Amino acid sequence: MASFDIRQFTCRSDNFGVLVHEAESGTTIAIDAPEEQAILAELETAGWTLTHILTTHHHGDHVAANEALKARFHVEIVGPEKEKMKIPGIDRPVAGGQTIDVGGVRVEVIDTPGHTLGEVSYFMPDAGAVFAADALFSLGCGRLFEGDAAMMWESLQRLRALPGATMLYCGHEYTATNAKCALSVDPDNVALQERAREVEELRREGRSTLPVLLEREKKTNPFLRADDEGLMAAMGMAGADPVDVFAAIRKKRDQY
Ligand SMILES: [Zn+2]
Repeated sequence: MASFDIRQFTCRSDNFGVLVHEAESGTTIAIDAPEEQAILAELETAGWTLTHILTTHHHGDHVAANEALKARFHVEIVGPEKEKMKIPGIDRPVAGGQTIDVGGVRVEVIDTPGHTLGEVSYFMPDAGAVFAADALFSLGCGRLFEGDAAMMWESLQRLRALPGATMLYCGHEYTATNAKCALSVDPDNVALQERAREVEELRREGRSTLPVLLEREKKTNPFLRADDEGLMAAMGMAGADPVDVFAAIRKKRDQY
């Protein structure tokens, strides 16, 4: 039986580093590689040896330590085919829809473009976790640097289709600001109000707001609810195309 242990830690200023360890195979996977020292320290604390890196997208704060970690551990680096020219040290390009074996760990690759044109998320069904980097944040979503609202909305619907019991891991701690924007568009959502209070308390204590159950995000994250009739009505957009609703929320978030 596979047995998973997942450690999340802060890298740089607001990036998350994540290590997934599977005890039977001894496989240890880093989700992105934002910062060498922080990852080395976490490996040392856990007593694990890094075997793989799953790269979500090409941004510097997600691939910064790829080459250093590869030189040190001879890890295999997996990343999106569409961005392979921009991902240092990539060994194994993958595409959405594929289920791959990563050191004995089953990983489903999900296309989630919008923030960048090639971003992918990684779902590990046996660990009950999805790693959505800069596509989906708690109560938010990634900035549309390369894609548009229609593209991102489609990406987020793929993530929304995963089981509610899935734990969502993200690339950044942006939840407190996301909560303010979410409440401004969806003020009467009780589940959102509760989550916003919890987020405020966690941040006051200097703790992370992630990971979070996907089921809660489905009920609270306005970017996953752009086709919700109640939210549309609250925004004065009853009957609108969800893509337009999504774009309106994204535009609002850009002002925070
Ligand atoms: Zn990014």
